[in-house]
Amino acid sequence: MDVVYPPGLSPAALDRALKAFGRVVGPDAVFATEEDRQDYSDKFAIDDAAHQPLGGVAPASAAEVQAIVRVANEHRVPIWPISRGKNLGYGATAPRLSGTVVVDMSRMKKIEVDVENGTALLEPGVGFYDLYDHLQANKIPLWLSVPGNSWGSVIGNALDRGVGYTPYGENTTKLCGMEVVLPDGDIVRTGMGALAGSPTWQLYRYGFGPAWDQMFVQSNFGIVTKAGMWLMPEPEQVRGLDVEVDRIEDLAPLIDAIGALRREGVLQQSPTIGNWLRAANIVSTRQEWTDKKGALSDDVITAIRKKFGLGWWGVSLRLYGRESVTNATFPILEQAMRALKPLSMKPTLWRRGDPIPPTQGGWMGVPMTFPMQNANWYGGRGGHIGFSPILPQSGKLALEQFRRAYARYQEFGMDPQTSFAFGERHLINVNAVLLDKDDPAFMKRVDPFLRALIADAKAHGYGEYRTHLNYMDAVAGTYDFNDHALRRLNEKVKNALDPAGILAPGKSGIWPAAYAKERGK
Ligand code: ADP
Repeated sequence: MDVVYPPGLSPAALDRALKAFGRVVGPDAVFATEEDRQDYSDKFAIDDAAHQPLGGVAPASAAEVQAIVRVANEHRVPIWPISRGKNLGYGATAPRLSGTVVVDMSRMKKIEVDVENGTALLEPGVGFYDLYDHLQANKIPLWLSVPGNSWGSVIGNALDRGVGYTPYGENTTKLCGMEVVLPDGDIVRTGMGALAGSPTWQLYRYGFGPAWDQMFVQSNFGIVTKAGMWLMPEPEQVRGLDVEVDRIEDLAPLIDAIGALRREGVLQQSPTIGNWLRAANIVSTRQEWTDKKGALSDDVITAIRKKFGLGWWGVSLRLYGRESVTNATFPILEQAMRALKPLSMKPTLWRRGDPIPPTQGGWMGVPMTFPMQNANWYGGRGGHIGFSPILPQSGKLALEQFRRAYARYQEFGMDPQTSFAFGERHLINVNAVLLDKDDPAFMKRVDPFLRALIADAKAHGYGEYRTHLNYMDAVAGTYDFNDHALRRLNEKVKNALDPAGILAPGKSGIWPAAYAKERGK
């Protein structure tokens, strides 16, 4: 594939920039061969030619990140930070603007855990497996909140508002205090970290005056070189229910029942309701069920559900904490679920000291990768891409949204992997649109399908919480109050902090003046 240069940068200028990056990190940590560019590209892309990285540079410290930012300013090279780059379905290692150099922080792996206070101060290269191993090796009784693909970085996941399934499942809300390199190369600590040497950096989020942590989440205003995360103390007991409900319309009462328990605080985890395909595509492939292209027929869906004992929807609900407390709340949960007349309801129980079964790890802080098996649903070159609108915790509205989306799945001949992840007051309707990259006719339908979903959601007042590089402009465009006042604010801040526009141009639909013409391309 030909090298794509960012607008306005000549091959000679780029060569000078790469040499300057090499003087910062050492020539062995600059990656700019054809093979390197392939490595940093997005394997789940709909269009393999879009979002082409120009190469990568891998710093080992915050000081090196600062030096990289200064080189980028001097040579006008756009750069794109990644922690571990496992943001699959949203762009992974690839940048929004082709020709951008990836700043790969996977070498930065320092871990400091404050056992007493239940916090960790982490560098971006620390993966969920690294932190888990550290906790295990040091016998630290703190649990992680792991996402379905735990390959990635703890900080990277929180920076794209990824979710897990425990009471600490809204990972971005567990961030506390950051160290950030700004686009001009300055370095700042947020919250109590601004008070040099403070022992409360990871304990109180706000410091004094405005609090900035979320400003560096899903933005292109800075590169996070360290962040604090709160970790959950290992509970005495985890007690729960695995519930399956039979019909599509059973989604509504299930959401209403869980939402009420969640708001009341009986249920403190972030449970996710998933459909039959979310369960079936990690243990089987499509060819085992049919060789017909297009939407799956109801007969096939019934056969899949029967084989694995699945409802249309399933959910794993868990209560965490003292034995006496979870034993007291369990009957309340059980009664609420029994009232729904579920297809099945299986109790689960784990007590401190018991081994954690591999399939239960997600609810108990153990990293996992098996859900990624879904990328193999069609066989061959697969993948998935996200469509994830935020909804109210209303069974009626969520069911209506699902029915509209399902009609689109059928219209475009796609198989629906869909789920509803509970926050405290909202639902994230995560759709992993499964890809068959070996079928060009199929791949042609993916983009219009996703654009239809975005437009349908917008028509009902719903916007996505996170999106793939391809759709950042489209999704940002749906946030349109007062003729896109939010975009104007974001870009005012962007241009003030990053006048040369070097940091992640186009991320989250935020384009610096230097690349304003690239919007929508
Ligand atoms: P993970 O490996 O956890 O999946 P990624 O490295 O893929 O995380 O990053 C997820 C998203 O967050 C990407 O859009 C990336 O640009 C952004 N990001 C990751 N790390 C940083 C960081 N240290 N500072 C700023 N943004 C980051």
